[in-house]
Amino acid sequence: MTENNSTSEKQTYQFKAEVSRVMDIVINSLYTDREIYVRELISNAVDALEKMRHLNLIKANEESKELPLEITIELDEKAKKFIIADTGVGMTNEELLSDLGKIAHSGSMDFLEKLEDHLKKDVNLIGQFGIGFYSIFMVAHRVTVQTKSYDQDARGYEWISDGASGFTIAPKDDLDHGTRIMLELKDDASEFANEFTIKRIIKQYSNFVPFPIIIKGEKINTVQALWSKNKNEISDADYTEFYKYVTGAFDEPLDRLHFSTDAPLAMNVLLFTPKENIESFGYGKVESAVDLHCRKVLIQKQAQGILPQWLRFLKGVVDSEDLPLNISRETMQDSILIRKINKAITNRFLKYLTDKAKNDEEAFNLFWNTFKTFIKEGIISDLDHRNSLSHLLRYETSKTEPEKWISLKQYIDRMAADQNEIYYINGSNRDSILKSPYIEVFTERDIEVIFTYDPADDFVMNHLDSYEGKKLISADAEKLDLPSSSQSEQKEEEEIRSKNINEKLQEWVKTVLKDKVAEVRISKRLVDSPAILVNPDTQVTGAMKRMMQALNKDFTAISKLTLEFNPQHALFQLLDKLRNNDPVFAEIALEQILDQAAITAGFTIEFDPMVERVNKILHRALEELAPPTIIQP
Ligand code: ADP
Ligand code: MG
Repeated sequence: MTENNSTSEKQTYQFKAEVSRVMDIVINSLYTDREIYVRELISNAVDALEKMRHLNLIKANEESKELPLEITIELDEKAKKFIIADTGVGMTNEELLSDLGKIAHSGSMDFLEKLEDHLKKDVNLIGQFGIGFYSIFMVAHRVTVQTKSYDQDARGYEWISDGASGFTIAPKDDLDHGTRIMLELKDDASEFANEFTIKRIIKQYSNFVPFPIIIKGEKINTVQALWSKNKNEISDADYTEFYKYVTGAFDEPLDRLHFSTDAPLAMNVLLFTPKENIESFGYGKVESAVDLHCRKVLIQKQAQGILPQWLRFLKGVVDSEDLPLNISRETMQDSILIRKINKAITNRFLKYLTDKAKNDEEAFNLFWNTFKTFIKEGIISDLDHRNSLSHLLRYETSKTEPEKWISLKQYIDRMAADQNEIYYINGSNRDSILKSPYIEVFTERDIEVIFTYDPADDFVMNHLDSYEGKKLISADAEKLDLPSSSQSEQKEEEEIRSKNINEKLQEWVKTVLKDKVAEVRISKRLVDSPAILVNPDTQVTGAMKRMMQALNKDFTAISKLTLEFNPQHALFQLLDKLRNNDPVFAEIALEQILDQAAITAGFTIEFDPMVERVNKILHRALEELAPPTIIQP
């Protein structure tokens, strides 16, 4: 912000570049949603009033002028004016400068671009980006803010802006504490000076505001602390409306949980699961939006610590009369009370999810599909609740239909009596897993395999380690404790017969690939594929190694894996003959088989040597197949 010295006390400031950009975005966003500015102004007034109420409560002994805490709206249709006033904490000169002109986020280009994208789709999100105040410039061509801080020594100020280049600030005397914002409406926005329109908008978005909103002496909103009312007295519509108020959302919640407790502490809790998982849109971590109240007085918005991180998608209100009113943000973090609240709510929410999973599969699956990443995060990060959360996991398997899920419990219930382990395999999708050589042996022996499509699932399985006493094993593990089958016994017999030949072949494969893989073995699991890479490491699964390779190109994943080959496969039978007749070409072919196994396992390989090799192989094949060239005279 640049400052021009002027002779009077009036100061002129220019908007920062990023503020101008935001203003551009806002002014040019959807025409139809302009009315959201009303909600943004009311929500700022509410914040200021909440702070005031809180100050009044903890400084009850100090003498200060106590105005009624309320919001007043004045409308002037002729002069095209919309005025909103609150008796909240107001702003000092410094706060006017730093807060009204601020962009909560970094203001980086990256942020601005994302912001533009989002607001183009839905300007309604503006409040969530901490720039709600600017929404007024969708409807106003000139705005005057008069404000005085609650602080007894504070002076009043007047801030004026046309939303284009900058603003002025000048002292203004004879103001009460609070803020009064006057919008001079654009010609095409005169409807916002209409009483009927504004009343409708308030009813729609701000009905649950915990302070009276007054127009011409009449209270417009129904002030209700829904969470402390009896469930039977609340309609679905009330809940939905309240949800819209607390979250600023347009849509209905996916679900709600409303309960009260007496021990170990008295609480009223109203939680909503939103319909969407905003994080899945690629928008960073969401902040928990559960507000903490004490006897209907807001203690902290988006309270820290009352829920575990993995429940940060929940919205709503927690009200506990056992909380001290003047608890500070710092003491909140590690207060025993907060931990008690956290524990009680988490357990209650888990019970609710578990019941839902049991009694309403369809509803639970809808929840799972949207919020599964949070459940998985909980399993990885929250030792206390890992076990309860593991019952909620749902996966597709080799035996389910696509997009149908089962629980680990269901998996165990239907596995054969002599199966001791739970098997899972990670892949990018069902088709690629079904084609993968890793599941050949499971298909052949009719063993169910869990399909995971998210590499994070390998971390989940790793942290869980086992479920109801059964080890969770990645299907690319070298050691599988597979139940025996008659077919496999037959196979072993065959293997013993051809043992001698196989051992020589194995020796040769080892010699050729000795620097490239950790070990070479004859496979007992392959049916249709010539070779696969398996993982001798029981701690770090193949999918985790793939992630490590993606993060660090130098990570030599393959050299730590074991190559298993299928001596019965036609390619190896041919190689076995060729290795004596044409050892050079046999080696080339074998290296190619290794690279292909690496690709199948999802690793990246070096392209240049592979292309060179494939050219040699192609050359050989074409030479054999193409008729001799006839040179025309
Ligand atoms: P946010 O509300 O997310 O912080 P806004 O752009 O809506 O972002 O408001 C910016 C800031 O301006 C607020 O955080 C607050 O400090 C200040 N502010 C806005 N309106 C008022 C008001 N009526 N009373 C006191 N402060 C206000
Ligand atoms: Mg705001």
